[in-house]
Amino acid sequence: MSTPSLFSVPQLRRLGVRLNIVLLGIILFFLVSSGYGIWTLQQQSEQFKTVTQTYYDRAMLAAELSRDAELIATQAMEQSVTQRLSNIDANILQTDITRTFIVTRSKLSAEAPEEVAALTEIDRLTQPYFDQLVFFYERIENQQRLQLRMGRLNRERQQWVAPYINFDVSADNGPFSAFVLNLSRSTLAMLDAQSPGLLTRRKAQLEEIRTALEGLSGLTQVQQQARQKLLENIAETLELKDQLDQSRLEALAAMRKTRLLAQRLSTVCYDFYLIVKQRANNAAQNHSQLIDWVTLQIALFSLAFLGLIGFTYWLIHHYIVRRLNRLSSVMQQHAVGNPEPIPQQGQDEITVIGKTFAMFVDANDRARDEIQSARKAAEAANERLRELNMSLHLQSNTDDLTQIPNRRSFFDWLNSSYPQWAQQGHGLSILMIDIDWFKSYNDHYGHQAGDQCLRQVAQLLRSVTQQYTGMLARYGGEEFIVAVPGISLAQAAELATTLLATIEQAHIAHGHTPKHHVTISIGVATLSQTSLAYPIEKLISKADQSLYEAKSKGRAQVVSQQVPPSLESSANLSV
Ligand code: GH3
Ligand code: MG
Ligand code: MG
Repeated sequence: MSTPSLFSVPQLRRLGVRLNIVLLGIILFFLVSSGYGIWTLQQQSEQFKTVTQTYYDRAMLAAELSRDAELIATQAMEQSVTQRLSNIDANILQTDITRTFIVTRSKLSAEAPEEVAALTEIDRLTQPYFDQLVFFYERIENQQRLQLRMGRLNRERQQWVAPYINFDVSADNGPFSAFVLNLSRSTLAMLDAQSPGLLTRRKAQLEEIRTALEGLSGLTQVQQQARQKLLENIAETLELKDQLDQSRLEALAAMRKTRLLAQRLSTVCYDFYLIVKQRANNAAQNHSQLIDWVTLQIALFSLAFLGLIGFTYWLIHHYIVRRLNRLSSVMQQHAVGNPEPIPQQGQDEITVIGKTFAMFVDANDRARDEIQSARKAAEAANERLRELNMSLHLQSNTDDLTQIPNRRSFFDWLNSSYPQWAQQGHGLSILMIDIDWFKSYNDHYGHQAGDQCLRQVAQLLRSVTQQYTGMLARYGGEEFIVAVPGISLAQAAELATTLLATIEQAHIAHGHTPKHHVTISIGVATLSQTSLAYPIEKLISKADQSLYEAKSKGRAQVVSQQVPPSLESSANLSV
C-alpha cells in the first residue's frame, strides 16, 4: 500500500538519485581512465614492436654480414680456382661483396656488453681477414706469374726441341735427337709429377739425361747451340718448378688461412646475430609478460575499485538514503495523523534528526493532550453553565409554589408559537381557570393549606392537559390558564369539562362551598382560525369574559365561546 506523501520531491532532486548519479559518474570516469590506460599500454606495445623490429633488423644485418663474409671467401676461392687473374689482381677490397660487407657493418650497432664484445670481435677479425685476402691473392698472383714463366720456358724449350722430334730435314736425326726427345719427355713428366716422391725420381731421371746430354760429343754447331739452350732451359725450368711448387704450397696455405678467417668471421657474425635475436626474443617476451602483468593489475584494480564503489553505494544507501526515506515517510505519516514508531537507532546526524523529531512529536502530543484536557474542562464548565442557565431559566419560568410554568413563561411560549399557528391557519383555544371561593378556603384552612390546595389543583390540571399539545400555567393568585392550538370549540369545552370533573372528583374538602369540596370555574374562548391580525390578548380577554360569566352563573361550571377571526361578537356556551 502506498503511503500518502505530504511533500513530493522531484526525481532529480532526490538525495539517493543524486548520489547514484555521482557514483555513476565516478564509475564512468574510472572506466574511461582504465580504457585510456589500456589504450596507452597498447600504444607502448606498438612502439615496443617497432623497437623489436630494429632488433630483428640488426639481427638480419648480422646474418647478412655472416653471409657476406662467407661469400667473399667463396668468391675468392672460385676466382683462385678459375685463376681469372685479370679480375683478382686489382683491388680485391673494392669488389661489390666486400663493399656490401663494409656498408652492412657500418649499419650495425651494439647495445648490450655481449653485443659489444661480439662486434669488437667482428672488427678485430675483419682487417686480418681482408689482409689475408690480399695476401692470398698475392700468392695466387705470384703463382700465376710463375706459371706464365713456366709456359714461356715450355714454349721456348718446345721451339728448340721441335726440329729434332719432328724429324726436320735441316736437323741431324742421330743420337742427339733421341736425347733431345728423351729430355723433353722427362721434363714434361717431371712437370706433371704431383707427389713429392715421383717428382724426386723424375728430377733424378732428368738429371741423368741432362748429364748424358752434356757429355755427348761430336755434335754439330747447330746441335751444340741447341744443347746449350736446352740445358739452360732445363736448369731454369727445374728452378722455376721448385718456385712454382713452393708458390702453390703458399697459395694453398693462404687459401686455408683465408677460409679459416672467413669461417671465424662468419661464426662471430652469426654469434652476433644469435645474440641480437635472443635479446629481441627476450625483450618481446619480457614486454609481453609486462603487458600481461600490467593488464592483470589494471583488471584487479578495476575489480577492487568497482567493489569499493559498490560497497560505498551500499553504505550510502543502507546508512543514509534508506534511513532518510524511512524517516521522511514516518514524518509524513505523523503529519497526516497516522503515527508510526520513529526510528532512532544509531548515533549519527540522522539519529539526531529522528530523536529531535521524536521530542517534537512528544511535545506536540503533550500540547494536544493539554489542549484536549482544557477543552474537556471548558466543555464541562459550559455544561455546568448550561445546566445553571437552564435551572435559572426554569426558575424564572416556573411558578415556585405549584412548579408549573408561570405567566411570563406562558406568554413567551404563546408569543413565539402564535406566528407559526397563524401562518398554518390553526385554531386556538384559551381556558381561564379560577378556584371558587378560595378566599374563604384560606380563611378557614389557613394560608399554608391554601398553598397546598393550589399545588394539588395545579397537579390535577397538569395530569389532564399534558395529554394535549398546549400549555398550562399559573396565571396569578388562584387562577390558571390553558392554551391548546388546533382544537375545535367543542373539543375545548370537552377539555374544560374534564378539568372541572377532575378537580371535583379529587374531593378537596372545602366546607364553605355549596358542594363542600373545592371546585373551579372555567371560561373558554376558541378562535377558529388564528391570524396575525387578531391580537392574542383579545382572545384571552374573551376567555376571561367567559370565566366571569361562569362565576356569575354560580361557579363550578364551564362557559365557552367561539371567537370568529374577524367578528367582534361571540357565542357563549356554559357548562
Ligand atoms: P370567587 O368565587 O368569586 O372567585 O371568590 P374568591 O374568594 O375565590 O375570590 P377573591 O378574589 O375574593 O379571593 C381570592 C383569594 O385568593 C384572595 C387571596 O387571599 C387568595 N390567594 C391569592 N393568592 C394566594 C396564594 O398564593 N395563597 C393562598 N393561600 N391564598 C391566595
Ligand atoms: Mg380570582
Ligand atoms: Mg376565586
